[in-house]
Amino acid sequence: MASTPSSPNPARWRPSPLVRASLGLHAGALALILVRPSAWPWALGAVVADHALLTTAGLTPRSGLLGPNWTRLPSAAAQRRELAITIDDGPDPRITPRVLDLLDERKAKATFFCIGERVQRCAELAREMVRRGHSVENHTHRHLNYFSLLGPRGLLAEIERAQDTIGITTGQHPLFFRAPAGLRSPFLDPVLSRLGLRLASWTRRGFDTVSASAETVLGKLTHGLAAGDILLLHDGHAALTRKGVPVILEVLPRLLDALAAAELAPVTLRAALGTGHREASAA
Ligand SMILES: [Zn+2]
Repeated sequence: MASTPSSPNPARWRPSPLVRASLGLHAGALALILVRPSAWPWALGAVVADHALLTTAGLTPRSGLLGPNWTRLPSAAAQRRELAITIDDGPDPRITPRVLDLLDERKAKATFFCIGERVQRCAELAREMVRRGHSVENHTHRHLNYFSLLGPRGLLAEIERAQDTIGITTGQHPLFFRAPAGLRSPFLDPVLSRLGLRLASWTRRGFDTVSASAETVLGKLTHGLAAGDILLLHDGHAALTRKGVPVILEVLPRLLDALAAAELAPVTLRAALGTGHREASAA
């Protein structure tokens, strides 16, 4: 797909220390086999162990071993007593409009990690999110279960397509990316660098796609609540309570009350970046 300028500041990729060590280990293992072919079991063992470590890091959504990963807001935002509510997998025409009203009632801003093809289907709703001061960020085009198994070209296609769709639809290019279920591979970080996207995971999640209890979800989100937290809820793929209400609609008012009582201000991730980045990101 033709690429629009996806990002204000594409950064040069700098491999994380673990990825740099892995690249070195692969080169070393190859050199060892060339010099001493009989040492191949050692070389193979080292490479297998390295892959196991990389895989474990990729299966750990909050891990920073594969590259930078926001699990909290920057300390300047925390000092301002800011916190981020992030809402994934929408937009959903049955749920998102009610979420927007609940946020407006408390003057709260949220970050929506949207699925590109859902933004295509619900374009007006996506524009409404941005009009009301929230941000729409990149959560891939199709939210594939096997996203983390894609190669570099597949990852780029999925992410760039969502980037273009969201940018064209809302007039605001995403600055943040979140992987489906938070699962990643070492190929993701260079793709995000190329598109100028920052990876964001979370401090705590409520598991509101699987738990039917608003009480349980709220308890998980507010346990140890502190300035700088990034909380994760879902307006898409939301579980239903026993009364058939999407869990987020029961959790959100009570969560916003808890934040107000703790004097914490819900802001978007891009607002937490600071003024300079906000201006740079204006479409
Ligand atoms: Zn998701």
